[in-house]
Amino acid sequence: MAKHKKQFAIIGLGRFGSSVAKFLSEMGYEVLAIDDNAERVQDLVNVVTHAVSADSTDEEAMRALGIRNFDVVVVAIGENIQASILTTLILKDLGVGKIIVKAQNELHGKVLNKIGADKVVFPERDMGLRVAHHLISPNIMEH
Ligand code: ATP
Repeated sequence: MAKHKKQFAIIGLGRFGSSVAKFLSEMGYEVLAIDDNAERVQDLVNVVTHAVSADSTDEEAMRALGIRNFDVVVVAIGENIQASILTTLILKDLGVGKIIVKAQNELHGKVLNKIGADKVVFPERDMGLRVAHHLISPNIMEH
């Protein structure tokens, strides 16, 4: 039997979410991209499998999209911490198997862990650390 290819949904199409969505699509995965801003959705229409405009804090809308059938859902809503938390709760209630959430700060991250996010990521913090590591890495040439 052919191996099931993972299906992904990305909620929030800012710089982080859209780059996750684009990369997964380029790698040949099925991607559903969701944002409540129609312009953001429009930018990805020709890139991902499905791009829809919806409010992820609307449980019925998420149910109607069949969100629980996706193997992994990435919540990439940054600034609106309330929307990020509510969305994560709804996804959890709907039975999504794996939920990955971008956190804005440590406290936001703590709440996300408590309500059952499977993985919490801090892109700005982690990229800052990587750049700093790189700067003091012994094997980079002095420019
Ligand atoms: P980035 O740093 O990745 O650019 P950000 O941290 O600035 O993102 P925002 O711009 O606040 O994050 O949010 C990312 C996207 O999430 C935006 O395009 C916004 O429209 C979308 N978004 C926010 N709330 C909701 C919601 N309730 N439902 C769907 N999309 C939402």
